[in-house]
Amino acid sequence: MAARLHKALFLDRDGVVNEDNPGYTWRKADFQYTPFIFPLTQAATRLGYKLVLVTNQGGIGKGLYGRTEVEQLHMQMQADFAAQGIAWHRILYCPHHPSTSNCLCRKPGSLLFERAVALEQIDPLQSWMIGDRCRDIIPARKLGLRTLILGADECAQAHLRLLPPFDAEDILKLMQA
Ligand SMILES: [Mg+2]
Ligand SMILES: [Zn+2]
Repeated sequence: MAARLHKALFLDRDGVVNEDNPGYTWRKADFQYTPFIFPLTQAATRLGYKLVLVTNQGGIGKGLYGRTEVEQLHMQMQADFAAQGIAWHRILYCPHHPSTSNCLCRKPGSLLFERAVALEQIDPLQSWMIGDRCRDIIPARKLGLRTLILGADECAQAHLRLLPPFDAEDILKLMQA
């Protein structure tokens, strides 16, 4: 008997979960949630989506901060979401930076997406990726997810785009259209 596959909402971190900063974000004090992320993930959870975070953290590869800082920040983030009744199913990050090493996991590479699909028994065709950079969209398209880009980054591959101002309702309407 085939295992039942789940739908998932894949999210980029910086610029989607939290407000993007000019540099890298690894300190709690610099981690400010976007106004739409809690209502969006709450509604997606109600609609049966698993939540998957896929983030490039090249600051690790550059030696600006370590895995410990990222994992502590993500633990705090999970606690903040849990306080609102929201659970992340997978949090995956690429610690590499092309200036110091090559890898297949840094977006637009698709390895982290493939890993999440396998580990969480996800059906990519029922799933979404929301990012703010074209490099978030490219690996998702490769796997067959629907894609939404937030903001003005050049991206011919994205299915849909929202420019500010928008709120969680605007995103959910697009996902359910
Ligand atoms: Mg981003
Ligand atoms: Zn990597």
